[in-house]
Amino acid sequence: MNRSRPLTTLVHELLAGALQPGDLAVDATAGNGHDTLYLAQQVSPGGSVYAFDVQNRALDATAGKLYAAGLRDLVSLCRTGHQNMLHRIPAAWLGRVTAITFNLGYLPGSDKQVTTGAGSTLAALEQSLALLKPGGVLSVLAYRGHAGGSDEAEAVQDWLTAHHGQLECQLHESRGPVLFYCTRHDRDL
Ligand code: SAH
Repeated sequence: MNRSRPLTTLVHELLAGALQPGDLAVDATAGNGHDTLYLAQQVSPGGSVYAFDVQNRALDATAGKLYAAGLRDLVSLCRTGHQNMLHRIPAAWLGRVTAITFNLGYLPGSDKQVTTGAGSTLAALEQSLALLKPGGVLSVLAYRGHAGGSDEAEAVQDWLTAHHGQLECQLHESRGPVLFYCTRHDRDL
């Protein structure tokens, strides 16, 4: 693999091969909206995206990008933690979602006080399993540089290992973040 390519770019390249117009997708950490916008572009026309963040600043940035691209109508923006995703996403989406992305850590450009945390991240991963369709993909980009980041990345890795019967994962290492890119098996093994 080309080590100079950022993992955020790699995520988009991998997702391009997984998503089609009309698909359903979820961004568990909207942040500045790069992944939400990318998901919306891939599922347009006819698809739909749910995006979650706990900070208004993140959701405002995300909404701005979507309006500029003419894709705001495709996306439901939810100001709540991703650990509540099953309360917000329609039951009709269970088992029908093609891609779910997590970009953990803090909002770039913010004061770094609000970060994702292992407990809520694992709860959201558990819910993601119920949403993903067979062959659907789960992408988790975890950062190890900030307080709690290494523990969170380790907790994610342990959780994925424990769920190898449902998910097949590739690990992409970099000096900074680590990417877990997983595909849901056609049936639980
Ligand atoms: N670290 C990445 C960006 C991550 S943005 C980078 O450097 O590019 C992570 C986002 O997750 C932030 O906007 C933060 O507000 C959000 N977040 C924190 N806890 C959350 C939770 N429980 N549910 C959803 N989003 C959360």
